Amino acid sequence: MKYQSTRSTEYQVSSAQAVLDGLAPDGGLYSLSSLKKIDFDYAAVLKQNTKAMAATILSALLPDYPAEEMTALVNAGYANKFETEDLVPTVAVGDDTVLELFRGPTSAFKDVALSMLPQLMTAARGKCGFTDEILILTATSGDTGKAAMEGFCDVPGTKIIVFFPDDGVSAVQKAQMVTQQGKNVCACAIKGNFDVAQTGVKNIFAAVSEQKLLEGKGVSLSSANSINIGRLAPQVVYYFKAYADLVNNGTVQLGDKVDFVVPTGNFGDILAGYFAKELGLPVGTLVCASNANNVLTDFLRTGRYDRKRPFYKTTSPSMDILVSSNLERLLFMLSGDEKLVASLMSQLSKEGSYEVPTALFQKLQESFWSGCCDDAATKAAIGKVWREHHYLCDTHTAVAWEVAQQYKAANPHHNPVVILSTASPYKFPVAVLEGIGEMPTGDEYNTMEQLHAVTGVPIPKNLAGLKEREVLHHDVIEPEDMLSFVLTKAAQKNW
Ligand SMILES: *Cc1c(COP(=O)(O)O)cnc(C)c1O
Repeated sequence: MKYQSTRSTEYQVSSAQAVLDGLAPDGGLYSLSSLKKIDFDYAAVLKQNTKAMAATILSALLPDYPAEEMTALVNAGYANKFETEDLVPTVAVGDDTVLELFRGPTSAFKDVALSMLPQLMTAARGKCGFTDEILILTATSGDTGKAAMEGFCDVPGTKIIVFFPDDGVSAVQKAQMVTQQGKNVCACAIKGNFDVAQTGVKNIFAAVSEQKLLEGKGVSLSSANSINIGRLAPQVVYYFKAYADLVNNGTVQLGDKVDFVVPTGNFGDILAGYFAKELGLPVGTLVCASNANNVLTDFLRTGRYDRKRPFYKTTSPSMDILVSSNLERLLFMLSGDEKLVASLMSQLSKEGSYEVPTALFQKLQESFWSGCCDDAATKAAIGKVWREHHYLCDTHTAVAWEVAQQYKAANPHHNPVVILSTASPYKFPVAVLEGIGEMPTGDEYNTMEQLHAVTGVPIPKNLAGLKEREVLHHDVIEPEDMLSFVLTKAAQKNW
């Protein structure tokens, strides 16, 4: 079973190589055209505990890692990191079920995948005969950076540099990054916004590869963002876990369909749900929930993707995105046509838009529904869920909850609904406090305590002690100095 680029048949690699490389040389994403060929007994998986599910599913999707090895990697990756043994608990909220993906070390759902990616990467080095140290570079608008630092912290053979916009992240997000411990981690602020940081990182990759700047130095660059199949695959697991919970608590019988509502940005989370469906899990509709940046809502309703539109900074910043990278994988899986995908992606980069053929659009509509809501509706949803169900949700989850209600109203014959909850409310305390009708006073830390005082909901341990923790990373640099910063760091053996 080979992974191939979504844009040509020229690049075909093993699953371990796909994890190491991240992106194909032609800019495509390593994918399988169909998961239906994988020999997989979904009902047997539902009887396993979450970590055993993870080992089975990951080794089915990444066959270079035998089940026994994967079990060891899963146990190492998730050891003592999550609040509960089942990693991702479900909670009944009104008629719906909320799947809590934020009970990991940084209180965002990215922990689920970024706890596993370093394990998968270091094991892949051995399988591919790769001896260089891996230097991970990541630009972050907040959540990914911290989750990646935590995931790679003290993992042998790896180092990580996270670039964040100096004024573009919340005080809590910044504190999470600059206080991160670990001998192999570095956080560096950039004088510029997120796009500047992201472009800077892309330019470093290009310069290092074109000018062979690290050749013979024993260091290779890699990335931890969600285009890597090693980050996507671990996310498939929680769809099975949620379904098993619904069977076990009697909400559905084995074989009944369940609908999932997913707060969506880069399309990784929801695509994992499509993977679960392809592996045989009885998934009904996958509902794509967006904030005011509703490019995906329009696309899934019309078949036309158009990124030429205003960009809004919203209270659910992890979904503020106009080009959803992982959508490319879905288009490839639905069409099986790398030439078509290459042509659509080239239109997107040249003209800023594309339209999919009718047959492909119909297939999209068979599995997906979409909706969106703005900041005002998000806040209203936080208040409503709190008043009516005494459940405190973050802004991203609130977008999903609101869109779930739209979906149910528009589809009276819907299946039982699972809403994916992607962050702790304490990561976005100002908007959440306002949502429940209170006025924040003081800084973000005070707001956190205020939110706790009003609701009684516990503050996650990793956020509670943040203010007192020692700042370990002080670098603030100009965007044009990013390359020399990386080269200097790459040359230092001990940080
Ligand atoms: C990253 C993120 C999302 C979006 O997930 P995608 O896989 O990019 O679609 C939603 N909510 C939170 C809190 C996130 O950090």
